[in-house]
Amino acid sequence: RPRVLSGIQPTADSFHLGNYLGALRQWVALQDDHDAFYCVVDLHAITVEQNPAELRQRTRVSVAQLLALGIDPERSTLFVQSHVPEHAQLGWVMQCLTGFGEAGRMTQFKDKSARQAAEHVSVGLFTYPILQAADILLYQANRVPVGEDQRQHLELTRDLANRFNSRYSPTFTLPEAHIVKGTAKIYDLQDPAAKMSKSVPAGMIELLADPKASAKKIRSAVTDTEREIRFDAEHKAGISNLLTIYSSLTGKTVAELETQYAGQGYGDFKKDLGEVVIEWVTPIQDKVKSYLDDKAELDKIMQRGAERARHVAARTLAKVYKKIGFLPHG
Ligand code: ATP
Ligand code: MG
Repeated sequence: RPRVLSGIQPTADSFHLGNYLGALRQWVALQDDHDAFYCVVDLHAITVEQNPAELRQRTRVSVAQLLALGIDPERSTLFVQSHVPEHAQLGWVMQCLTGFGEAGRMTQFKDKSARQAAEHVSVGLFTYPILQAADILLYQANRVPVGEDQRQHLELTRDLANRFNSRYSPTFTLPEAHIVKGTAKIYDLQDPAAKMSKSVPAGMIELLADPKASAKKIRSAVTDTEREIRFDAEHKAGISNLLTIYSSLTGKTVAELETQYAGQGYGDFKKDLGEVVIEWVTPIQDKVKSYLDDKAELDKIMQRGAERARHVAARTLAKVYKKIGFLPHG
C-alpha cells in the first residue's frame, strides 16, 4: 500500500475549518487505502514562541481533535513529532544539504516573518521547511495531503530527496503533494484575500469554539456590496469562500447552492451556513471532550504511535548515517 504522511502544528487552542477542509478531511479518507503516518508537529510549533504549559495542553487537544475527526489509531500511526528524535536528526542532515539561497526563496517564511518584529524571527522559522522535508522523507511517503500553502515546501522536499539520492545512492522515495482542488485554500472571514490561519484568530472558524460564536462570525464575514450569491473568486472573494465552505460541509454543489439562494439576501445565506457549521461541529466537540477525559487512553495511543513511527524512522536514519560516512557505534 502506498504510504502517506502529514502533520499539523499545535499552535492554537483549536484547529480551524481551513485545516479541516484543506488537509484533515483528506487524512481521514486516505486511511482506507494507504499506510498512513500522521503527526502533531510540536518541533515546528516552537519556531514561534510558545508557553510550555499551553504547548503541552495544545498538543493533547490536537491529538484528541484528530481522533474525533476520524483518524483511527489502529489503522494509522498517530504520533507526536518530539517523541521521535529521528525528525530532528534527519532535519540536521537536510539542513546541510540545503542552499542558503534556496531556503530564502520560501514564501511562507517571508509572510510569517513579515508579521513579527524582526528580533522575534527565529532561525528555526527560516529552516522550518527543511525539517518538514525530513518529516516526510523519514517515512518514505508517497503522498502528502496538505493545503495549497504547502506546495512550495513539497517541491523543496523533492529537490532535497533527489539531491541526496544522486549524491550518495537511491535512498528516499519522492513524495507528491496531495492537494484537493476547491478546498486547498480556505480564506480568512475578515480578510478574504488571506488564508485562514491559526495565527490570525479574528477570521477563523474554530472546531472547538462555542458554535454560536462561530455562527455569529459567519454572519459578520466580510463580503461585497452586491446582493447576488454567486461564485466569483476574483470579484466576490468573501461570498465565494462561504460557498466553498457551505458546499464542502453539506455535499451540495456550488451550482446547487447558487440556485437554492437565487433572489435571497446575504443575511439568509449566512444564517443558514451558521446552522450548517453548528450541526457539523457539535458532535465533534463531544468526541474531543470524551477523548480528553480519558487521559490514560490518550497517552497509550500516543505511545503506541511513537513506537510504530520510530521503528520506520530509525531504519531510514540508519541508512542515511551510513551513506554519509558517519562511523557506526555500539
Ligand atoms: P499556522 O498559522 O500556525 O501556520 P495553520 O493554520 O497554517 O497554522 P498548520 O498546522 O501550519 O496550520 O497546517 C496544517 C495543515 O492545514 C497544512 O496541511 C496546511 O496546508 C493546511 N491549511 C492551513 N491553513 C489552510 C487554509 N486556510 N486552507 C486550506 N488548508 C490549510
Ligand atoms: Mg501553517
